[in-house]
Amino acid sequence: MNSPDIAWRRTHFSLAALFEALPVAAVFVDPEGRIAAANQAAADIEGKSIDDVLGQRISDIHAEAGRHVLRNLWLTEAGLPVPDHELVIHDVTYQVSVRAVRNEAGGLIGLLATLTDITLQKRTERRLSEANRRLKAYAWEDHLTGVPSRRYLDAALTREVRRSARDGRPLSVAMLDIDHFKSFNDLYGHPAGDVCLRQVAQAAAVAVRRGADEVCRYGGEEFLAILPDTAGAAAAHVAELIRAAVEALAIPHQGEPSGHLTISLGVASLRPTGQGSRRDRDSLIAQADEALYAAKSAGRNRVAVYQPSTSEAGATRA
Ligand code: GH3
Ligand code: MG
Ligand code: MG
Repeated sequence: MNSPDIAWRRTHFSLAALFEALPVAAVFVDPEGRIAAANQAAADIEGKSIDDVLGQRISDIHAEAGRHVLRNLWLTEAGLPVPDHELVIHDVTYQVSVRAVRNEAGGLIGLLATLTDITLQKRTERRLSEANRRLKAYAWEDHLTGVPSRRYLDAALTREVRRSARDGRPLSVAMLDIDHFKSFNDLYGHPAGDVCLRQVAQAAAVAVRRGADEVCRYGGEEFLAILPDTAGAAAAHVAELIRAAVEALAIPHQGEPSGHLTISLGVASLRPTGQGSRRDRDSLIAQADEALYAAKSAGRNRVAVYQPSTSEAGATRA
C-alpha cells in the first residue's frame, strides 16, 4: 500500500541523511571489515572526508578498532551479543556500541558501530574516584596530629585482638594522656595546644620501635599505642620509652612542677584465655584506662601497669 505518508518518506529519507543526522559517530562495517557507510562525525575522528574512508579496511585506519571489529564479528557469528567497549583514539575516549545488521533471511550484512565521546564522563569518574581515595585516607588519618585516627584505631585493635587469640600471641596496649593539658591550653592558648598535641603524637610514634606497633589518636589529648606480640613487661618498657621521649621534647609548661610538659601511661595486656571478642577488646581498653588513672593518682609523669590479680593497677615512677 502506497499511503501518502510512505510516499513522503521515500522522497525525503535516505540512509546517508539518517546517518548524518545521528548525534554520534556511526560506521557500518561489512563482514570483511570494510567500511560500507560512515557519517561525517566518524570520518572527523581521523580528520578525513566520508569518501576517504568508504571502502577502507577499518584495521588500516585504526589497528585497535580493527581488532575490536574482528572480535565483534566473531561474537556475532557465534550468535553472542557484543558488549559495549571503550576505545581511546587521539586522546578521546569513545564508548563503542555495536549491533549486527541482518537481511530478511537473517544473514549478516555487517556491523553498525556508534562511537560516543565519553572523555568528559571518564575525567569526572577519575576525579571522583581520586576524591574518594583521598576521603578514605582522611578518615584513616588524624589530620591534627598526623597519626592514625580513632576510626583506624577501632579497626586495627579489633583485628589485633582477633589475631592474638587466633595465634595465641600476646597483645598489649598503652593508653597515653597528657598531664594537665587543660592548664597548658589556658596558659599558652589552644593553637599552641594543637602544636603540642602533634609533637607528642609524633614523638610517641617514633618511640615505638617495631613495625607492627602503632600509636593512634584515641580522642582529645589521649593516644593509644597498640603493641602486637608484646607481653606486659615489654609493653611497660615501651610505654616508658614513650614517656621519656615526650619528656625529652622539653616543651615548657609552667603548670608542671618540672616546668615541662609530661604524660602518663596505663598499660594492659590481653588475657591468654581471650576469645578475640569485642568484649576482650573493650576490657583491654578499660584496663589500660584504669592503669592510666592509677598513674595519674600516683603523681603523673609515670607508667602504670594493670594488675589483674588485685584488680588494682600499680604505678611505678619512671
Ligand atoms: P590530667 O593530667 O588529669 O589529664 O589533666 P588534663 O588537664 O590534661 O585533663 P582534662 O581532661 O581536664 O583536660 C583535657 C584537655 O585537653 C581539655 C581540652 O581543652 C584539651 N584538648 C582536648 N583535645 C584538644 C585538641 O584537639 N586541641 C587542644 N588544643 N586541646 C585539646
Ligand atoms: Mg584526658
Ligand atoms: Mg590529660
